[in-house]
Amino acid sequence: MATLRSVNPSTGDVLGEVEVTPLDQLDAIVARARAAQPAWAALGVAGRAARLAPVAGRLADRLDELARLISREMGKPIREAQGELRAIADGVPHELAEIAAALAPDVLDDGKVRSTIHHDPFGVCAAITPWNFPVAMPHWMVFPALAAGNTVVLKPSEDTPLCGAAYAALFDGLVPADVLTVVHGDEAQGKALVAADVDLIAFTGSRAAGKQIMAAAAAGLKRVILELGGKDPLIVLDTADVARAAVFAARNSFRNAGQMCVATERIYVHRAVADAFVDRLCAEAARMTVGDGLADATRVGPMVNARQRDHVVRQVADAVARGARIVAGGDHRDLFVTPTVLVDVTPEMPIARDETFGPVACVTVVDDDDQAVALANDTRYGLGASVFGADDDRTAAVARRLTAGMIGINQGVYGARGTPWVGARESGYGFHGSRDGHRNFTQTRVLSRPQ
Ligand code: NAD
Repeated sequence: MATLRSVNPSTGDVLGEVEVTPLDQLDAIVARARAAQPAWAALGVAGRAARLAPVAGRLADRLDELARLISREMGKPIREAQGELRAIADGVPHELAEIAAALAPDVLDDGKVRSTIHHDPFGVCAAITPWNFPVAMPHWMVFPALAAGNTVVLKPSEDTPLCGAAYAALFDGLVPADVLTVVHGDEAQGKALVAADVDLIAFTGSRAAGKQIMAAAAAGLKRVILELGGKDPLIVLDTADVARAAVFAARNSFRNAGQMCVATERIYVHRAVADAFVDRLCAEAARMTVGDGLADATRVGPMVNARQRDHVVRQVADAVARGARIVAGGDHRDLFVTPTVLVDVTPEMPIARDETFGPVACVTVVDDDDQAVALANDTRYGLGASVFGADDDRTAAVARRLTAGMIGINQGVYGARGTPWVGARESGYGFHGSRDGHRNFTQTRVLSRPQ
């Protein structure tokens, strides 16, 4: 039986291994998930919520142990790993209430016809997830899919199989057999799962894989929810609190070693404040301790693997060859890349166009708002964006012209509880979170009768 080894990117230590799911077993796994689905759906929204609610307590009880696993398996600083888990555990009660409201039938009556709009499960959902938030990403898809009455086959990233398995184990004894199944493997298992008899594919990962999945799903007109990569811009206006903007830029460019879909990768700063902003950003970068995620002092852990490290290092070297200048960081050892600030980045450089997914902030000086907006929107991506400026109409107007799905004014992209997580353009197709996001896990069905 082939196995998948889980390796600690900070140390190179092997943490464990899992059996790769043989491709010829996938059809049978999906068939069992399909057979289990009607009984799971028949529990109703409240019945399913009652089964799922204890996941929060189980997660809270095992928070430190699981945070250590996240940190060891993909390198995230332990405090960030704890934060990832706490957000899930704290959010479950609200999430279940929000899902129940989303799934409640709507009734429309125009005096002639009375219609009830139902939000039914699709059937079997394939959830295919990345490694950068190795528990949160499975949770964001598995939980609403199950709550909506689907059964789920989860394929976690090949870089974080132990985290995927540990997350699924939280459901042990809560949901019946075959309601949630984990399959392990890489792209091959992902492709086979997409091709199997599933009704919905909920995918979070790269834009390239998302395109392949959408094309493959088209053969059976399967539903897809795609949460893809980003190249998020930050605009710093001349009215901004420069220190605040720079602290935000450092945090959002280097958090999780930049391995975040909504990391700030491109910065457009007004000429009048550019020097002050870059100075402060470099100072913040220099203060960030790079090292093993388990060490208390660490703020920036390793790249998840050598492929990711090589991609980041290559992009930076290419940018320098094309005229960009490194003003902070720029070096690496093993899988650790020092937080790096590049200036004089121009729009045609690959580093300004393609996702980096590493601790690199690219700065371009702009002369006016129109130029900042044009450059920020000059991308195929459209996940998040931020604008820092005075709390006035001008800042709001700049924000409103941005083409990303989630835009923060003097903050990151995270919205109020209940807002969707949504990518525009090639950063996403369908979305989740929020009433409408939860409904993406359901088939709308309309039942009408004469009045
Ligand atoms: P990836 O696309 O390489 O892999 C993601 C998952 O898909 C893995 O489980 C992988 O095995 C599987 N896979 C790869 N190719 C596939 C295919 N053709 N068919 C089916 N499955 C396939 O991405 P990654 O490197 O694991 O994660 C990083 C990417 O995820 C970045 O682009 C990041 O921006 C994105 N991401 C997006 C969000 C979001 O909310 N939009 C959140 C987290 C990460």
